Amino acid sequence: MLALQGAFAAHALILERLGVSTKEIRADAQLDDVDALVMPGGESTTMSMLLERSSMLEPLRTRIAGGLPVFGTCAGMILLSSEVMDGRPDQRVLGSIDIRTRRNGYGRQTESFESDLEIAGMDEPFHGIFIRAPIVERVGESVSVLASVDGDAVLCQQANVTVASFHPELADDDRLHSMWLKEFV
Ligand code: GLN
Repeated sequence: MLALQGAFAAHALILERLGVSTKEIRADAQLDDVDALVMPGGESTTMSMLLERSSMLEPLRTRIAGGLPVFGTCAGMILLSSEVMDGRPDQRVLGSIDIRTRRNGYGRQTESFESDLEIAGMDEPFHGIFIRAPIVERVGESVSVLASVDGDAVLCQQANVTVASFHPELADDDRLHSMWLKEFV
């Protein structure tokens, strides 16, 4: 778990329930000890600042480029994207997946909403909980879209990088974490 800020504890509970041991990562040296990383929801501007302050931005980018499996949700998705709109001027992204995100992109009316998602590889819909979620405005050619809402991608994958604009850790449903573990860990 990247544990600088945000909703990492709920992810850890699910992964532990699925039989995986988890660790809270707050410094770059700790990155060497993990086989995979979850980047949780929270506040992407704060996480960006904390990643810079703890000198983790470059080591993390390098580890991901080297194949570290990563699952980023909501703010984690924003940080992993190649471009962010409506970010703070000093906000940084890792550029690990070729998508453009817009912070809080679903607008004020629908800042938070829920939607049952058809996810590639799942028989039954997955309940998507969106909380001030980023909208995906552009998807690069090498990115697979695994679920969408009204034509907008909400779950994407490019090589070792998986991102969701919703909060699978709040859905009381382990299937997405389980799928990710089976594929990557
Ligand atoms: N709006 C937040 C951001 O820009 C993301 C919200 C979330 O992670 N639930 O980082």
